Amino acid sequence: IVHWPFAASQRRRLNWVQLAGHKGNFKAADEGNILKKFSENERQCFERLRGDSLLPYVPGYHGVVETDGESFLHMTDLLATFDLPNVMDCKMGVRTYLEEELVRARERPKLRKDLYEKMVEVDGNGPTSQEHVQRAVTKPRYMQWRETMSSTHTLGFRIEGIKKSDGTCRTDFKKTRSKEDVIQVFKDFVGGNVNIITAYLSRLTEIKHALKVSEFFKRHEVIGSSLLFIHDHTGQAQVWLIDFGKTTALPEGQTLDHSIPWQEGNREDGYLWGLDNLIHTLECVSCG
Ligand code: ATP
Ligand code: MG
Ligand code: MG
Repeated sequence: IVHWPFAASQRRRLNWVQLAGHKGNFKAADEGNILKKFSENERQCFERLRGDSLLPYVPGYHGVVETDGESFLHMTDLLATFDLPNVMDCKMGVRTYLEEELVRARERPKLRKDLYEKMVEVDGNGPTSQEHVQRAVTKPRYMQWRETMSSTHTLGFRIEGIKKSDGTCRTDFKKTRSKEDVIQVFKDFVGGNVNIITAYLSRLTEIKHALKVSEFFKRHEVIGSSLLFIHDHTGQAQVWLIDFGKTTALPEGQTLDHSIPWQEGNREDGYLWGLDNLIHTLECVSCG
């Protein structure tokens, strides 16, 4: 006889996968839920999402919880209803830093050796000849360069990580930039199952409509937020909006278009443009 709470926690431990962020940011919670390290900004987003058209597409939010002297956001574990899920984190938008982060990075543009090394690790031709001589780059330079390496700039989204049901995990997508590359990654992710792609496409279309009528979306700069793709062998396939740690309310009366190009100062995030590109890319997966 298996005691059910034991079986449940066992199952969760086997199922749970985190594709981004610091490992310490998440904790298991009660059945079907998880805890994410508290951020006031993200808490406010969940509160504002309560009455919004996006609510059916974000994890259920159950308030702030404190354990071991630390605060957490208590939310639904999106993987809980799946059997051996395949998971992909796709970070949306044409930039993944806030304008204010760029401004702050520029205030004291220190030459950073660590960022130079991170740059060279991804691309030896990344640094300019001067930067090679200095063996250092500034933070704003690094931030802007990084976005040009992945599909963030060219497509308005990038793949952050994938975990497949066979246990394989990949987070090495920093240079996955072209539409063809992304198509290949998706093909592999769904194991060639076109029905899964069709299910993802219909969910993405629903999300697009919800975004278009969302008051929350209109009034927020959505940076660093992801679409989490989940499917399993039963054919169940879902997409959810996650990670509002950097989603920021605009000043009263201001709104964003989410499709027009970003120019510093306009705060545009390219989220809808990226979503359209993502939909077109998935359509290509299922047609060839
Ligand atoms: P970063 O800002 O670096 O992306 P973060 O600490 O803000 O990281 P998230 O992006 O919210 O964390 O989540 C990290 C990962 O944890 C996601 O890629 C996903 O794999 C998993 N995850 C997050 N929220 C949920 C959820 N509600 N249900 C299931 N998995 C989740
Ligand atoms: Mg994230
Ligand atoms: Mg985050």
